[in-house]
Amino acid sequence: MIATSLDSQDIPEPSSVAGKLNLLGLSREALVDFFAEMGEKPFRAQQLMKWLYHRGVSDFEQMTDMSKALRTKLAQVACIIVPEIVVQNYSTDGTRKWVMRMPGGSSIETVYIPDGGRGTLCVSSQIGCAVDCSFCSTGKQGFNRNLTAAEIIGQMWIAAHSFGSRDVSSERYVTNVVFMGMGEPLLNYGPVLNASKLMMDDLGFGIGKRRLTISTSGVVPAIDQLGDDTDVSLAISLHAPTDELRDVLVPLNRKYPIAVLLAACQRYLDKLPDKRKITIEYTLMKDVNDSPEQAAQLAAVLADLPVKINLIPFNPFPNSGYERPSRNAAMRFSKILQEAGHIATIRTTRGDDIDAACGQLVGQVADRTRRQERWKQQHDQAAGL
Ligand code: SAH
Ligand code: SF4
Repeated sequence: MIATSLDSQDIPEPSSVAGKLNLLGLSREALVDFFAEMGEKPFRAQQLMKWLYHRGVSDFEQMTDMSKALRTKLAQVACIIVPEIVVQNYSTDGTRKWVMRMPGGSSIETVYIPDGGRGTLCVSSQIGCAVDCSFCSTGKQGFNRNLTAAEIIGQMWIAAHSFGSRDVSSERYVTNVVFMGMGEPLLNYGPVLNASKLMMDDLGFGIGKRRLTISTSGVVPAIDQLGDDTDVSLAISLHAPTDELRDVLVPLNRKYPIAVLLAACQRYLDKLPDKRKITIEYTLMKDVNDSPEQAAQLAAVLADLPVKINLIPFNPFPNSGYERPSRNAAMRFSKILQEAGHIATIRTTRGDDIDAACGQLVGQVADRTRRQERWKQQHDQAAGL
């Protein structure tokens, strides 16, 4: 059973390392409180955030607008721990992928996709994923734990400062953020929300709220909560026009069926201060969900919700059991949606030469669910091994 409580953290935020508080990932308010406890004024929080997020400085000694005495004191009680990069890959199309090792030994993946004037960072929210969608390689890795806010914002920190820019607030390589890496962001609610707020904070990375997208397989109570707490953009991984099929592809559908999910999307849009659309993600799988009838069904199911539909041709991985449809089948599907009045685009695959495409992010998950083991066993049996 999938835990859907909003604070399903099974591990407390390891915000302190060797008795020192990790300042990475702390909200602006928490930093003000931290400095107040040291007898320092609130503007110290601003100074620290500018060094940390705008200039990428993680060493207190280099924060030269603070006195030597304050820097020494900071080093005694606090630390700034950024993720450790184990591999950095460059695709021929400009896509970059980082594999980052997390405390505990598992690793996660973060992808940067440049596209014209825009640079999108695809971040991970969990080590593995418990939702277990049948076509997703992250899901097949099983689940280890939630990432902390520091580990989420740390991915952005690494990416933003890897371009050699001296100040990310004046020269932005990352203009958009999508929570479409490993994990289900809305099953790691608090840390995802805190990291998102820092990404959008002017003293953090200054990403516009419309340019930060949380993608979810449909955790309905968390969608409602998100609408109360923030106004980022929302993407829904739908992948099927009927409950019968979605129950198989996205097991969470058995708990929150399509009608319930789409009603939550409408409530989310109703709370936004501006007019926006929900992005619907639909991974096209050959002979599974790519027929013209299913396109027509999808168009009808989404008729009353303001949406833009993003069709993602399935990205294969070993033993997935699914295939990518032909270009023609994808175009035909998209055309039916458009003729019904929808905005539909086919997502071009980026970075597949470095396994950075959607659903190919696997990291190195020390699985606590034993799902990975069971899955491998099934495949070995089927292959007669
Ligand atoms: N857990 C979240 C976000 C991460 S997945 C969610 O499910 O929304 C990002 C997107 O990639 C989702 O829409 C997901 O369904 C899709 N995806 C997963 N595996 C895929 C694959 N093998 N090929 C194409 N898209 C895939
Ligand atoms: Fe988890 Fe999203 Fe993959 Fe489903 S598609 S298993 S929710 S990461």
